[in-house]
Amino acid sequence: MSTEWARLHEELAAAGLESGLEVALSPHTSYQIGGAARCAVSVSSREEAAALAGVVSRHPGLGLLLIGRGSNLLVADEGFDGLAVLMGGAGRIPGAGRDRPTERNTTSSADSRTGSEGTAVDILIDDDRVVATGWALLPLVARRSVAARRCGLQWMVGVPGTVGGAVRMNAGGHGADVAGNLAACGVLSLRSGRITDLPVGDLGLHFRGSALADHHVVVTATFHTAAATDDSCERELTDIVAWRRANQPGGRNAGSVFVNPAPGSGSAGALIDGAGLRGRRIGTAEVSEKHANFIQADPGASAFDVVALMIEVQDTVERAHGIVMRSEVRLVGFADEVVSRFSDPRHDEPDRVGAREHLISILDGGSQP
Ligand SMILES: Cc1cc2nc3c(=O)[nH]c(=O)nc-3n(C[C@H](O)[C@H](O)[C@H](O)COP(=O)(O)OP(=O)(O)OC[C@H]3O[C@@H](n4cnc5c(N)ncnc54)[C@H](O)[C@@H]3O)c2cc1C
Repeated sequence: MSTEWARLHEELAAAGLESGLEVALSPHTSYQIGGAARCAVSVSSREEAAALAGVVSRHPGLGLLLIGRGSNLLVADEGFDGLAVLMGGAGRIPGAGRDRPTERNTTSSADSRTGSEGTAVDILIDDDRVVATGWALLPLVARRSVAARRCGLQWMVGVPGTVGGAVRMNAGGHGADVAGNLAACGVLSLRSGRITDLPVGDLGLHFRGSALADHHVVVTATFHTAAATDDSCERELTDIVAWRRANQPGGRNAGSVFVNPAPGSGSAGALIDGAGLRGRRIGTAEVSEKHANFIQADPGASAFDVVALMIEVQDTVERAHGIVMRSEVRLVGFADEVVSRFSDPRHDEPDRVGAREHLISILDGGSQP
């Protein structure tokens, strides 16, 4: 499909959405590197998401990239040849008109039913359920829940992403994950324009993945929690923050690069370490000295260097241990052969394919262009 980006930009503006052309994606990812999206739009409410669906449904075949906090993305230096959707991204597109600081706005709207800019509440504690918008920040969900004496979501404090990104990736840590906490979620199909409330079983959640497609926007998620009977959840939250600071590097990275192989094969970090790769550098990218499964980028680094280092790590570990490691990080704008080298081979197994087809039929049923 040949998309006329200027026309798309005009349609987005006519729908009342903040958008821009050739928008640099580096400020929107934790790696802070990579090129531009041909077009980007910000969405900070259900209404804006619905307006976006109205435009997208007129552009069949348009490539879409939803971006929460970009903490699991590596964008190629060449950028993304499609429409990037910055979730909760008001004010994040330079020169697009409205100027609303995202971080403060998200926090303030989480504090009250309507934020200072009148946006809907991001996190609602309702008895044993915690309901959050898809663009609510996970650490904030964890802190708000514990402050309201609800337990179970403490692990989220260590994951620097949004609820939507976490559902899509089935994020987890410290012995828990989204699949274990999620009760239901509301998903908007940008193709059909419908929001559907789904039980967790329909999402096809598996280790660090789901059956959600690129045009499926998580707009709300409802999590189970338990009542706090003592201060142990609060203590656990504090311990997780301390553990992360002690064991993981800050700076430009996307968390763990490689998925831990099958049980009994050792962690990905241990395999990388065992292959002598801790501190290995290619150009502007380096295997972290602090945690061997993190690849750090220098300021102004090239995404090409990060991928070149990923390839070297993958090949060296295979030679040393006979294990082909796959990546947790979503690669955007790279050649198919690069993406498939790191993607989970189980992606094409019948149960995964079936789960994706099932979800498409529920969310897009009858209205796929
Ligand atoms: C320092 C560090 C530590 C980390 N630790 C962990 C960890 O312990 N466990 C773990 O699982 N991950 C970890 N991560 C990775 C990352 O934080 C998680 O995968 C997180 O859930 C991604 O959320 P995000 O909003 O940043 O998603 P993004 O990176 O923006 O996007 C990830 C995927 O989700 C999609 N997406 C984004 N928003 C939505 C939405 N609203 N609806 C539907 N799809 C959407 C994107 O299109 C993309 O496919 C870590 C990352 C860093 C930088």
